[in-house]
Amino acid sequence: MAKKDVTDVALKGKVVLVRADFNVPMKDGEITNDNRIVQALPTLQYILEQGGKVVVFSHLGKVKEESDKAKLSLAPVAKRLSEKLDKEVTFIPETRGEKLESAIQALNEGEILMFENTRFEDVDGKKESKNDPELGKYWASLGDVFVNDAFGTAHREHASNVGISTHLETVAGFLMEKEIKFIGGVVENPDKPVVAILGGAKVSDKIGVIENLLNIADKVLIGGGMAYTFLKAQGKEIGLSLLEADRIEFAKDLLERAGDQIVLPVDGKVAKEFSNDAEITEVSVDEIPEDQESLDIGPKTVELFKQQLEGAHTVVWNGPMGVFEFSNFAQGTIGVCEAIAELKDATTIIGGGDSAAAAMQLGFEDDFTHISTGGGASLEYLEGKELPGIKAIANK
Ligand code: ADP
Ligand code: MG
Repeated sequence: MAKKDVTDVALKGKVVLVRADFNVPMKDGEITNDNRIVQALPTLQYILEQGGKVVVFSHLGKVKEESDKAKLSLAPVAKRLSEKLDKEVTFIPETRGEKLESAIQALNEGEILMFENTRFEDVDGKKESKNDPELGKYWASLGDVFVNDAFGTAHREHASNVGISTHLETVAGFLMEKEIKFIGGVVENPDKPVVAILGGAKVSDKIGVIENLLNIADKVLIGGGMAYTFLKAQGKEIGLSLLEADRIEFAKDLLERAGDQIVLPVDGKVAKEFSNDAEITEVSVDEIPEDQESLDIGPKTVELFKQQLEGAHTVVWNGPMGVFEFSNFAQGTIGVCEAIAELKDATTIIGGGDSAAAAMQLGFEDDFTHISTGGGASLEYLEGKELPGIKAIANK
């Protein structure tokens, strides 16, 4: 079902509440990656150009007690946003009350203010995270229209997304719309043939994703740490590679059901220590030494996965192929990125926190049709779940 977006509502002169996802990584009060701020710009710029009065807000981190507040203020985000928009962003260090209300009243068309971390409301009874009905109603009372652009929060039912939507017409921002188009497109109506690539640390984190993508994809290529539980299920010796013993039966069952729909690695890069400086040997998956651990897929597997990707019209990827954080074990993930970059007629989508970070960090940011901004949200979406934050947006 198509959702209403920010172009479907009147904005001029309206107080437009915008739930953004400004949950950026911070270290010692500094923003270490502002991608989420950059991704929010098109929606904000559009509303400002249309003459809306923007009230933007977000959560940042987890606020459990009063003492968490100092390091989780959105003030540095307001500053960075102001630089990116090249426009003053008034920051109100409150989540409610007279000061906020009068600042909103003082807004002129084309002006913007940001208020403080919505999770500051969690200190007193988790009002934001438990979707306290009074809080959602109060925030809704501050504006005329609600634009939800926080895809990264869409799997949560919080006051600042779902709560507000209960009281105010809600439309999607451009980022939310893009995520729905691409990730929603994969789960609902993908252009075939579809190749899914799965990796990352654990089978247990991804059971729902594996099951759902097996229903959607023509081929499911499995690499990363999770591959070794599957190889073990085939009776192979995997040495000290990641194993989830309690998932071997699940893996066996899937392999039986899926037959050649699932493609597993044929070689790996093994080492004695979990370290970038460890001595590396490339071995077949039939020859993993018992005192070593496989930390990446090998070149034959990259070649095999490349062949499997040829002719795909849709590629969806979650989970790195190896320990990409170590440069010496990033080749598998790089090889798959390169194979995807070469595809001419495919829609290519990557989801998952570490996967998106890997694609960007390794320099492939422009080679995907879509890199999702949501970690947990993109996984739950790929599992085929209905996300409460998306459900709450009005249908066209
Ligand atoms: P995402 O966040 O994209 O869903 P995951 O969190 O499931 O991905 O997996 C990412 C992690 O998996 C990375 O930190 C990476 O180092 C780890 N990983 C990938 N391959 C292996 C492997 N062969 N052995 C150990 N860890 C691995
Ligand atoms: Mg992760």
